[in-house]
Amino acid sequence: MAQTEAVKRRMELEAPERFMPVIDASLCKRCRKCVNECSYRALDFVDGNVRPAGGCVACGRCINVCPAHCIEIRQIPSQFPPHANFNERVRRAIMSQASTGGVLLTSCGTDIAYPVMFDEMVLDAAQVTNPAIDPLREVVETRTYVGGRKGRLRVNEKGPPYLDEDPGPIIAMDMPIMIGHISLGSVSYNAQKALFMAAKELNILAGSGEGGLHRDFLPYAKNVVSEIASGRFGVTGDYLKSTAAVEIKIGQGAKPGHGGHLPGEKVSAMISQTRMIPLGTDAISPYPHHDIYSIEDLQQLISVVKESVEYKVPVGVKIAAVHNVGAIASGIVRAGADFITIDGFRGGTGSTPRIIRDHVGLPIEVAISVVDQRLTKEGLRNRVTVFAGGSIRSSADMIKAIALGADAVMVCTAALVAMGCRVCQQCHRGMCSWGIATQREELASRLNPEVASARVVRLFRSWNEELKEILGAMGIDSVESLVGNRDRLRYFGPNSKIAEIMGVKHVGEGWG
Ligand code: SF4
Ligand code: SF4
Repeated sequence: MAQTEAVKRRMELEAPERFMPVIDASLCKRCRKCVNECSYRALDFVDGNVRPAGGCVACGRCINVCPAHCIEIRQIPSQFPPHANFNERVRRAIMSQASTGGVLLTSCGTDIAYPVMFDEMVLDAAQVTNPAIDPLREVVETRTYVGGRKGRLRVNEKGPPYLDEDPGPIIAMDMPIMIGHISLGSVSYNAQKALFMAAKELNILAGSGEGGLHRDFLPYAKNVVSEIASGRFGVTGDYLKSTAAVEIKIGQGAKPGHGGHLPGEKVSAMISQTRMIPLGTDAISPYPHHDIYSIEDLQQLISVVKESVEYKVPVGVKIAAVHNVGAIASGIVRAGADFITIDGFRGGTGSTPRIIRDHVGLPIEVAISVVDQRLTKEGLRNRVTVFAGGSIRSSADMIKAIALGADAVMVCTAALVAMGCRVCQQCHRGMCSWGIATQREELASRLNPEVASARVVRLFRSWNEELKEILGAMGIDSVESLVGNRDRLRYFGPNSKIAEIMGVKHVGEGWG
C-alpha cells in the first residue's frame, strides 16, 4: 500500500511529533483557511475534514485565522521513556543528527532554562528621606544620547564653562531603546520596513543588520545604524554616510565566534541587489574580519570608517559577551569607538548552529556590569555609549540592565513578538507563517508593515512609561542618573559569587 505524505514525513522525522493541532469537528466550518495558511503543511483536508498531517511547530497561525475558534495546539506529552540524563532534548538531537549527519541548526535565543539574573534582582524605591517623583506631575527624562561624549567640562572664571575636546557626533533618542540588527534577508521586506517605521516614529535607532539598506528604506536612514560585518554585504561609502551611525560587528550573542549564513534560497532578486551578491548563492560571512587580528587593526578600521563618513556620525563596535569582555571593551574604547554594543548569549538570531547558541558566551547581566566596572576603573566609561542586548524581554529587564551599567538596551525578539512572532524557533527554515522570517512573497505579504509598526511603537512607548514610573518611584528624575547605579539593585538568587562579580549587594544589605 502506498504511503501517505504524512506517514513518509513522520518516518523521515523519526522522533515523535512534539505538537498536534486539534480541531473540534463539531464547530469547524470546513473553510480550509488553516490548511491554506499553514506554511509547514501540518494540516490536511481529507474526506471533508481537517486532519493533522505532522510537522506542526506550534507557530499558532491556524489558531489566528480560524473563524470558528475551533483549533488548539497541544504539546504532546513525552513519548520517550523517562531518563533525567539522556533527557528528551538530548535524544531528539541524537536522532536528528543520526538522520542528517549535519550540524543542528536553529534560530531565536537559547531555550535552555539557564538562570536569568534579571529575575534574581530587585530594584530599590524612595522612602521618607529621598522622596519619590510623580512622573505625571514632574519631568522624568528618558532621552538618551548616543556617541563618544568626549571632552571634559572646564570652568573658567573669566568666561562660560567650555568642553576641552570636541565631543564628536551625538544622537538623541527619546528613550533608551535601540531595535537591534535584524537584517533584510533574515526577515522580510515588510518586517524590516515595520521596524524602521517604528524607529522613526519613536525617534530611536534601529539596526540595519549585515544586509545593507534597501533603497526604499533611505527615508528611514536617519534612524538606522548601518552595520559592517565580516562579509561587508551592501556596504558603500554613500550608504554609511546616509545612516545615523555605523557599527562594526565583530560578534553576536547567539553565535560568538561565528559568521552569518543566509541560505541561497533566501537570496532573492531583492536580497541579491541589496547585499550586492549573486542571485541564489549562499551569503556566508567569514568568522573573523580578515583585516582585524588585533586592537590596532580595529583602530585602523574605525579610523577608516570615521574618515569615510567625514566624522559626521558615531562609529561603534558590537561584540558578543565572552569571558574576557571587560578587557576587550577597554581595547575597543581605546581604539576610538564612540559606542560599544554588548550582546549576551541568550540573544536571538535568524540562524545558528544550536551548539553555539546554547553553550557559548556570557549572560548579558554579568557582561554589562563587568564592562561598566572595567571602563570606570580605567577612566574610559564617560568616553563611550554602552548598548546591551541579549534577551531584553520587558521594561524590568531594560531598567535592570541600565542600573547594571548600560546606557541603553538593544531589543530584537520582543519587537518581533510584538509583530506576531511566536518564537517557534523555525526562522532558519525561511517558512515563517507570520511573514516575518521569510522571503517567500506569499508569506511576506501576510505582514502589514503599518499594523506591525504600530504594535512595536505601542510596546516601546509602554516600556518607556514603565521606565518613568520606576524612575519616579526610585526618586530619580533622569534615566542617565540610573546608569551604573548598582546600589539601587539587590540580588536574591542562589549564587552570591555572581552578585559579587556584578557588584550588586545581596537583599537585606543597606546602603553604604
Ligand atoms: S480554519 Fe477553522 S473553521 Fe476553517 S477549516 Fe480550519 S479549523 Fe475549520
Ligand atoms: S519569526 Fe517566524 S519563524 Fe521565526 S520564531 Fe518568529 S514565528 Fe517562528
